[in-house]
Amino acid sequence: MNYDRILIRYGEISTKGRNRHQFVERLRRSIKDALQSYPMVKIEAGRDRMFILLNGENSTEIIKILQKIFGIRSFSPAVKVERDIEKIKQAADELFRNLYHSKQTFKISAKRADRTFEYNTDDINQILGAHILKSFPELKVDVRNPVVNLEVEIRAEAAYLSAETILGPGGLPVGSSGKAMLMLSGGLDSPVAGYMAMKRGMELEVVHFFSPPYTSERAKQKVIDLTKKLSEIAGTLTLHIVPFTKAQEAVSKQIPENYVMTTTRRLMLRITDELRRKHEALAIITGESLGQVASQTLESMYAINEVTTTPILRPLIMMDKTDIIKIAQEINTHDISIRPFEDCCTIFVPASPKTKPRREKVNFYESFMDFEVYIQEAVNNSETMIIKPDSSTEASFNELF
Ligand code: ATP
Ligand code: MG
Repeated sequence: MNYDRILIRYGEISTKGRNRHQFVERLRRSIKDALQSYPMVKIEAGRDRMFILLNGENSTEIIKILQKIFGIRSFSPAVKVERDIEKIKQAADELFRNLYHSKQTFKISAKRADRTFEYNTDDINQILGAHILKSFPELKVDVRNPVVNLEVEIRAEAAYLSAETILGPGGLPVGSSGKAMLMLSGGLDSPVAGYMAMKRGMELEVVHFFSPPYTSERAKQKVIDLTKKLSEIAGTLTLHIVPFTKAQEAVSKQIPENYVMTTTRRLMLRITDELRRKHEALAIITGESLGQVASQTLESMYAINEVTTTPILRPLIMMDKTDIIKIAQEINTHDISIRPFEDCCTIFVPASPKTKPRREKVNFYESFMDFEVYIQEAVNNSETMIIKPDSSTEASFNELF
């Protein structure tokens, strides 16, 4: 006998009271999506825990996938056995024979969720411990620091045996915290911001501003590749490519040079906000981090933020660049982000943009322009793509073009 299922322990879901059912359902769906290519797998979702029934599917690969699913605190490969001490002994014996016979030290940790079982936990520990020692004389018991801790849990319907606890990423299941628009540039920061938002359960739609011919197809492909990476976590992502050339040309022509960047950012935010309204999201996420560049001073954020009352979430705001890079490496967006590309926001920006723009000034300069046409045009001409993880990309592109 080998493991036939994986026991999933919930993370913070457990603290969510009445909403618990919804959280469990979200997590079940995340797992189901992530395990699509394992058709034999079945999921049993309960209030306190979930079981993935392997039905012969490869547990090593499935374990790798589960380690990335938000909302999972930890999980353990397990085997279900009838509530019969002889059957339990036999199952423990087989697990040690197949997996743990060379592990030197062990301990049995019995738990009874159901007290009607005829043996108490001390009895079970002793009976199984003695049985394993007899079958594998080379093993020793170590109750303090064993190499293998075989947990035996007696529940009303059956007994479960497991010996390994693998950590999940924690967080909340994707989709359990509402939807936001992620402004994704192609740089290092915004994919990390998106990852952090998803970890807190947010569903994302991705927005990218594209300014051909100033920015090339290469830059666009980069954003598609980054979105694809994020979709490995989210399942499927909608990407809006917003044509931004005309607006940028107009801004650079009509706004004094040192305020071009501030106005450009304000315009990007207004367009994103319009897309947000259209797609019924509740927030905007950026990869801004305090002090990184000229546009990321408090003065600048204060001037830019004026154009909307929509919450703008900046998951990286207080983080150091080195810590951001570490996460980018972990989530495999780093190498895509560092490919050279043209950034639509730097193209028209002077060598030294204002680091302390003022609201009154920017409002005065903008009062001579009518932005509404640019906003509507950008929104109406946005190209929308459905991005899926690598294997299914072709299908999604054919669907669209
Ligand atoms: P990043 O590494 O994410 O590019 P950055 O440090 O280069 O960030 P900026 O270029 O000032 O900083 O951009 C700040 C944020 O504005 C980005 O993190 C992103 O959320 C948003 N942004 C910038 N350019 C674009 C773009 N072309 N399309 C969509 N969002 C953008
Ligand atoms: Mg950038």
